[in-house]
Amino acid sequence: MARCGACSSTIIFGGAKAGSQQFCNNNCLQRGQLLAASRQLPDDLVRAKTAEIYRGVCPKCQGPGPVDVQMSYRIWSALFMTQWVSRTKIACRSCGRKQQFLDTLFCLFLGWWGFPWGLIMTPVQISRNLGKMFGSENLEPSPNLENAVRIWLASNPGAMQSPAWQSAGKLTG
Ligand SMILES: [Zn+2]
Ligand SMILES: [Zn+2]
Repeated sequence: MARCGACSSTIIFGGAKAGSQQFCNNNCLQRGQLLAASRQLPDDLVRAKTAEIYRGVCPKCQGPGPVDVQMSYRIWSALFMTQWVSRTKIACRSCGRKQQFLDTLFCLFLGWWGFPWGLIMTPVQISRNLGKMFGSENLEPSPNLENAVRIWLASNPGAMQSPAWQSAGKLTG
């Protein structure tokens, strides 16, 4: 099954295409294009900034890190319409778990009410949240974090001077 070129979630149905790459949706497609444009940034700069953010303070709760991209998944339906999204936040694991828990409730209440995709995709989105909540912890910055930092640096030249965590909260997808 294809993986999203921006957030590396598995694409089950639908999604957006650009050239040979596939993305969850247009949001991820835009991120993918920014990512392609940011490939010329020096790798060591990106890696240093990524490590700084990873070891820094959580931009959400100001608690100790490690800080990384926390994914969570939502779905809502209304009769014949169903929409599902992957959400990203730069935060610590415990903030991530909170978000995944809230998004699981969101799915449980709002996901089912569409035919057929609500019934098919709600368990998928819920199991993605649960997988993230109970999955093993990253011991180093994820590729998603590095991508987010790359995009952030490419789109904010001033970011290279600012303390990483102050701006890290803006690194959302
Ligand atoms: Zn994606
Ligand atoms: Zn936090």
